[in-house]
Amino acid sequence: MRSKLQELAKRRPCALRENVQMAPLTTFRAGGPADIIAEPSSEIELVNLLCTLQELEIPYFYLGLGSNILVSDSGIRGVVIRSHGELAEISTSDNIISAGPAARLLFLTTIAAQKSLSGLEPLSGIPGTVGGGLYMNAGAYGGEISDTFMDVRVITPGLEIKTLTKQDIAFGYRSAPELRNVIVLTSRYELKPGDQSAIFAEMRRVWHLRREKQPVEFPSAGSIFKRPHGDYAGRLIEAAGCKGLRIGGAIVPTTHAGIFVNDRAGTATEIATLIQTVRRRVRDQFNVTLENEVIPIGFDADPFAV
Ligand SMILES: Cc1cc2nc3c(=O)[nH]c(=O)nc-3n(C[C@H](O)[C@H](O)[C@H](O)COP(=O)(O)OP(=O)(O)OC[C@H]3O[C@@H](n4cnc5c(N)ncnc54)[C@H](O)[C@@H]3O)c2cc1C
Repeated sequence: MRSKLQELAKRRPCALRENVQMAPLTTFRAGGPADIIAEPSSEIELVNLLCTLQELEIPYFYLGLGSNILVSDSGIRGVVIRSHGELAEISTSDNIISAGPAARLLFLTTIAAQKSLSGLEPLSGIPGTVGGGLYMNAGAYGGEISDTFMDVRVITPGLEIKTLTKQDIAFGYRSAPELRNVIVLTSRYELKPGDQSAIFAEMRRVWHLRREKQPVEFPSAGSIFKRPHGDYAGRLIEAAGCKGLRIGGAIVPTTHAGIFVNDRAGTATEIATLIQTVRRRVRDQFNVTLENEVIPIGFDADPFAV
C-alpha cells in the first residue's frame, strides 16, 4: 500500500493531504487517521482521481460531512475523498434547485427559502451534505429528501457518468439502494413557489423541535438506530434500562435514548462497544435486533455485531 500511495502522491490528480486525523472531520469527533485525504474541487478532478485510484488499486471512502459515520480508532487505510469547490455549488432555475454533492443541506434549505421555494423545510437542521443526504434518504418530521427529488448524475463503479431519475431509485426509510455503489454528483429537486415568511417560519419551527428533542451540547451522529417496524428505538433502549449507560466517554443520554453522545474524550471503540451493548440488551429482552443507521468505517469486522 505504501508504494501505491507514494505513486498517487507523485501523480497528484487533485489536492492531497497525508496522515489526516478523521475525528475533527466527523460529528462524533472520534476515530484515527486516514492515510490520505484527497480533495477534488471539480468533476474533472474527481474523475481523474477515481481513474488513478482504480489504476493503482487503492481503496477509497467517499466522505460527506461525516455526520452519519463512526470511524475506527485505527483510522482508514487508503484514500478518503472529500470534495469541495464547484462540487459544493447550488443554483436555482424557476422552481428547480440543483446542488453539487458537497453542498450543505443547511445551504440547500436556506437558499430554497430565500427564493420562496417550498418543499425542503422538514430537512432544515439536518447536518450533512446533499450527497450524504441522498445516499441516506435523510429526513425528519414527515419529510424526506426523496420527496422533492427529480434526478441525480452519478459516477458508476465503471467510471461512467449517468443520470438516475426518481423512477430509477427505490427510496425507502433511510435508504436509496441504487446509490450504494455509485458516487452522487449534482442532484435536482422540484419545489413549489410559496410564501417566504411562511417557509422560514416552518423552518424555525422544525429547528426548535430538533433542539428540544436532541442532545445538542455533545458530539453525536444523530439517531444510532433506524426506527424498528411499529416501534421506536429510543423506547426500546429506555425499556431495556440503557438510559444513562456509559462506556468510557460514550453515553446513552438520559434525555434522548436514541442519540448516543461522546463526552469529547470518548474513543470510537468505546462508542462501538456502547452501540453493541445496547443492541444486545434490547435483543435479549425484546427479541428485536436494532438496525444501525450509523455506518462504521475502517473496522476489520462489524463492530456492532451481536
Ligand atoms: C445532530 C445530528 C442530527 C441528525 N438528524 C438527522 C435527522 O433528523 N434525519 C436524518 O435523516 N439524519 C440525521 N442525522 C444524520 C446525518 O446528518 C444524515 O444521515 C446525513 O444525510 C449524512 O450526510 P453526510 O454528508 O454527513 O454523510 P457522511 O456521514 O459523510 O456519509 C454517510 C454515507 O454517505 C455516503 N456519501 C456521502 N456523500 C456521498 C456521495 N456524494 N456519493 C455517494 N455516497 C456518499 C458516505 O460514503 C457514507 O457511506 C443527524 C446527524 C447529527 C449529527
